[in-house]
Amino acid sequence: MKRKIGLLFVVLVLMLTMAFPAGILAKSPHFQEGKEAYGTEGMVATAHPEASKIGAEVLKKGGNAVDAAIAIQLALNVAEPMMSGIGGGGFMMVYDAGEEDITIIDSRERAPAGATPDMFLDENGNVIPFSQRHISGDAVGVPGTLKGLMTAYEEWGTRPFNQLINPSIKLADKGVEVNGVLADAIADNQEKLARSTAGEVFLPDGEPLQEGEQLVQSDLANTYKKIRKDGAEAFYEGEIGEALADTVQDFGGSMTEQDLDNYEISIDEPVTGTYRGYEIASMPPPSSGGLTVLQMLKMLEGFDMSSYDVQSPEKYHLMAEAMHLAYADRNTYIGDPQFVNVPVQGMLNEEYLAERRSLIEFGQANQNVEPGNPWAYQDGESTGTVTQQDDREIGETTHFSVADKWGNVVTYTTTIEQVFGTGIMVPGYGFMLNNELTDFDAVPGGPNQVEPNKRPMSSMSPTMVFKDGEPFMSVGSPGGATIITSVFQTIVNVIDYDMGLKSAIEEPRIYSPTYPSIRWEEGIPADARQMMEQWGHQWQKTPVDIGNVQAIRMLEDGSYVGAADSTREGTAIGLNKPGKKK
Ligand code: GLU
Repeated sequence: MKRKIGLLFVVLVLMLTMAFPAGILAKSPHFQEGKEAYGTEGMVATAHPEASKIGAEVLKKGGNAVDAAIAIQLALNVAEPMMSGIGGGGFMMVYDAGEEDITIIDSRERAPAGATPDMFLDENGNVIPFSQRHISGDAVGVPGTLKGLMTAYEEWGTRPFNQLINPSIKLADKGVEVNGVLADAIADNQEKLARSTAGEVFLPDGEPLQEGEQLVQSDLANTYKKIRKDGAEAFYEGEIGEALADTVQDFGGSMTEQDLDNYEISIDEPVTGTYRGYEIASMPPPSSGGLTVLQMLKMLEGFDMSSYDVQSPEKYHLMAEAMHLAYADRNTYIGDPQFVNVPVQGMLNEEYLAERRSLIEFGQANQNVEPGNPWAYQDGESTGTVTQQDDREIGETTHFSVADKWGNVVTYTTTIEQVFGTGIMVPGYGFMLNNELTDFDAVPGGPNQVEPNKRPMSSMSPTMVFKDGEPFMSVGSPGGATIITSVFQTIVNVIDYDMGLKSAIEEPRIYSPTYPSIRWEEGIPADARQMMEQWGHQWQKTPVDIGNVQAIRMLEDGSYVGAADSTREGTAIGLNKPGKKK
């Protein structure tokens, strides 16, 4: 018996060694239960175990990655209601393996027709503080998520829609166990939630739901039943939309039923670039994510990153410097491309990026970072910019990835902006309303000023990495403007440091959009921090979690490794062929 087990072990190790590139096995010898998985037939990685289970079940029943992604988004609205849902928007990147092509379903929220450039200024022309403007009706963008899901379903869906929505109806009706992340979110947002029927759902009898208690959402279940019966029309042209617009108006916003009826998603092409021989495809404007990720990678490409230890001061210095330069451009040039010209080619021009890279020096932080002039590298001219008061709080929503046995991949970042969005629930319908319009500049005049029907600039960066034209990795994160740096660092950890996916995600991250302050995660060595202070950087007093990365690595034999970040209850589930019976 013992010998048999020994033999089995040797065979297993041999199989694993063949299946995994050296880096993965070397850096990540153990799969952490639930947080990391291996699958030959498919993979799901989401921030909540119930959503992962529902997605995996769809794959198991023969659904494709898009079917599973739709089911996951619907489930996340139930299980992680403070992060995303039909009251919000997002970017779904779909890799169609048959077509070998990427399509982005952009369901970003839009400003209603009644929105004005100065709507976040008070009567004296001062910016309304973020704490107030993010909970107002004016902050609510016309939601896009459901239209995005339905568009993806029409294009790629293969399972009956009932099968994608029924598990979430059941979950909402029966109840989902409140986990630590949700319990903290409720406890931290009681005042904001108590202003609407959200209070009845999350603070029954005035007391915040505690970890381990059941969250029952009957109104949301009924809303889903209406959607199951009448499709997206129930929302955009029917009673749900009517109630939604009334609620926004009750909270001082201008949204009308007509705004919902007029809402349109867009189908976008990714921005693309290369990094050390890998091809990267990421989110174009109105997200700043793809351009900024690519700019930072291109700046690092001029340095031999792997010659510096993964926790060396040199590595963090190069990253922070690249961040400062790329964010300076991001904050100057990006807006909704349906409204403003964004210098996409200029920002990604090799010569331009070499010029930007030359501003990085070793042993000293650049203290005078200015935006560059990408318009010198492409036709057109700058729309100008306006300095903003930096009082925005970092959003914290959700990202997930799914891959199926045909090689299709979905990488999807989806949001209601802040935790619980505006905190406003549509009474009788059980879903939260976003505050996405606070992603616009509060002070008008720049490319990201508020305008009717416009989409606010985002940071969401669902990204796919390819090697020799084949999918290599899908990655993304929530975290407002920090998203971009979480995606960037995960890619560098995998490509430059040959890390296994889980280690690449767990490696402590930094975030430094402007000189000199650096936000950081626990685990960055004190001597590296001290050395960098001598070079002019400043570390924030205490470490904090940055982002919540979910990602999938596609191995050469067509199998998958999935990983979920430890900062939430994220779960990766791999699908494998049933074992042979003896
Ligand atoms: N509102 C943020 C953005 O679009 C997303 C927030 C988040 O995903 O954490 O950039």
